[in-house]
Amino acid sequence: MRILVTGGAGYIGSICSEELLSAGHQVTVYDNLSEGHRSAVDPRATFILGKPEEDGNILDAVRSASPDAIMHFAANALVGESMTNPGKYFHNNVANGLKLLDAAVQCNVKKFVFSSTCATYGPPEREPMTEDLPQRPINPYGESKLMFEKILQWYGSIHGLDFIAFRYFNAAGASEKYGEHHRTETHLIPNVLKVALGRTDHCEIFGTDYPTPDGTCIRDYIHIEDLAQAHILGLQPGKSGFYNLGNGDGYSVRQVIDACVKVSGKKIPSVEKPRRPGDPPRLVAKADKANRELGWKPKYPKLEDIVATAWAWHRKYPDGYPD
Ligand code: UDP
Repeated sequence: MRILVTGGAGYIGSICSEELLSAGHQVTVYDNLSEGHRSAVDPRATFILGKPEEDGNILDAVRSASPDAIMHFAANALVGESMTNPGKYFHNNVANGLKLLDAAVQCNVKKFVFSSTCATYGPPEREPMTEDLPQRPINPYGESKLMFEKILQWYGSIHGLDFIAFRYFNAAGASEKYGEHHRTETHLIPNVLKVALGRTDHCEIFGTDYPTPDGTCIRDYIHIEDLAQAHILGLQPGKSGFYNLGNGDGYSVRQVIDACVKVSGKKIPSVEKPRRPGDPPRLVAKADKANRELGWKPKYPKLEDIVATAWAWHRKYPDGYPD
């Protein structure tokens, strides 16, 4: 299939593009490089430098790629930043996303695959977190993704746009070639591994007074290649709707640090800090729907295996991408 991948120079989009290409699909990457890296784009893909703020730019890109499906990864995705700059999240994740959706309808694109998030749920009112849980986000990032999910549903029912939305839990790990490099790193695993690499002398733990066994936040970490495989399975005809993607196991911040110590064999000092605004205490997926309906089975369900792939990539590319 011909696939247009927005955000294909970013962490998740680059590895999804790599997997799509390896599965025999044709990929056009559309990315404004605000967060992404040109060198993270697989050389087998066609690259379009996106200017989503310019009228007609997204439509031109969709026309020129003429895709069978669009995978929409391009977004801002930092909970903390969204609490101080909500406008950035609503403009980019909702308004720019809407331009893409209109272009998809105008160009008769058959399928739209959307990167959503467990942040759309907010603190879950019950566990396990299945897809039918009420969605009550507690940060503008989650709200922006929920708004787009709703728009997508209306476009699905009114325009007949076939869509699938994946609610990611915490994407982590790397492929051999591509990994996680944000210019300003806020994510837990890369920040902890920076200490193991000797780039910083300690990591920070945001909040030690949560109602969890060790007082730190619990998340469900999912390997980036497993995420990518779910997207490829989502391209099968007749697959649509909302799917959680996680492993179903929760790890606290302290447990993640311990896993990084074990995998790297290095000492990793940590400093306790106050809570980071917008963080729910515990987010753990129930992803049975994706297992059952898409035939999705994660290859790297264990945290240590996920961390090991991240560690291998960061050791190979300690400065990340050159651009
Ligand atoms: N976290 C932390 N120290 C860091 C980065 C993150 O303690 O340097 C915590 C963060 O508060 C959250 C968890 O680790 O509870 C996962 O954060 P991350 O930013 O990796 O992903 P998120 O869950 O926000 O998508």
